[in-house]
Amino acid sequence: MNSQEWMQRFDRSVMGTYKRYPLVLSRGEGCRVWDLEGKEYLDCVAGIAVCSLGHSHPKVVEAIRKQAGTLTHVSNLYYTQAQCLLAERLVSASFADKVFFCNSGAEANEAAIKLARKYGNETLGGKNEIITMEGSFHGRTLATITATGQAKFQAGFEPLPAGFRYVPFNDLAALEAAVDEKTCAVLVEPVQAEGGVRVPDAGYLKGVREICDRKGILLIIDEVQTGMGRTGVFLAHEAEGIAPDIVTMAKALGNGFPIGAMLATDKAAAAFVPGNHASTFGGNLLAMAAGLAVLEVLLDEGLLARGAKAGRYFLEKLQALKAKHGSILDVRGRGLLLGVEMDREVAGILTRCTEKGLLVATAGTHVVRFVPPLVITDAEIDRAVAILDGVLEER
Ligand SMILES: *Cc1c(COP(=O)(O)O)cnc(C)c1O
Repeated sequence: MNSQEWMQRFDRSVMGTYKRYPLVLSRGEGCRVWDLEGKEYLDCVAGIAVCSLGHSHPKVVEAIRKQAGTLTHVSNLYYTQAQCLLAERLVSASFADKVFFCNSGAEANEAAIKLARKYGNETLGGKNEIITMEGSFHGRTLATITATGQAKFQAGFEPLPAGFRYVPFNDLAALEAAVDEKTCAVLVEPVQAEGGVRVPDAGYLKGVREICDRKGILLIIDEVQTGMGRTGVFLAHEAEGIAPDIVTMAKALGNGFPIGAMLATDKAAAAFVPGNHASTFGGNLLAMAAGLAVLEVLLDEGLLARGAKAGRYFLEKLQALKAKHGSILDVRGRGLLLGVEMDREVAGILTRCTEKGLLVATAGTHVVRFVPPLVITDAEIDRAVAILDGVLEER
């Protein structure tokens, strides 16, 4: 069967919740993937900022293989070594004292929302509202689409859970004014990725931290996309020298193996006691093995620094492209989370890039988003930019 036949067969049985590009991918290595017909693509999507070590990284493959042949899953009724080791690794690499494991970014944010409410209800005398940002993205469960400050993700799913309020992103005065006697926490992304690769002013997160401190409420940072070296440091908030109370992670933590994590200080984490929150698959041994292997490569083998360097090079090349094409309104980002804002909707540009062998993502309707594996080489960056250049020349 060829790709065309597979796609027709696929759509007969798989629910239509996604608009997919018309290709069937079957194999990957490093920054490259191949479709069923053997056509090669340079992958600047990386499974939406997930496969940061590149596809089929030998260390991750070996770790999963080894764990699969030893013990796959036992539930959280018991202790396991792998969960201990990954939690220790995350704690020592971050602000956090404690880690809760789950399976996705939305689940990590759900856990953070529950923890903040429990903390607020019990420790802050019944405060339980969370302020989030307009243009944010926090996931697709009912609570996380409500936390998400974009109406398009909420429309049709009413009634939405109560307890969320929104303020404009990158506006400290608006945040300060919105915090009231019911507020228990602020939830914010260091860079709004899905929302258009929107980078706040320097000092913004620090200002959010100061407001939270002054009001005695929790700061939750959604690092699902920005974490794991995506922006050039391990967790993006480190660049502002602040320590949050709660951080959520997922995407690149397993390099493609599903895993989510909520990290917290002891002060916040103490609000959860046995029975308050749980996940059957959370802390699954395969996910833990994958996460440990990923952190080893990222933190011990210099990938973090390589990603930061590649990000600077990529940004420079995109800025040069902007100088050439009037249709590019802005080029921005941090590390290897980069956005090219166009003067038009970018769907057509992405289709042409895909046809020419370059996978890129969108961030909203007008922004082309590059989130390649951190192992991307300068030559691959040159090729990606050349393909986009060629597509923009066509217009
Ligand atoms: C992708 C993403 C999520 C949701 O993660 P899922 O694993 O798809 O549930 C939440 N927050 C941010 C910032 C994300 O980029």
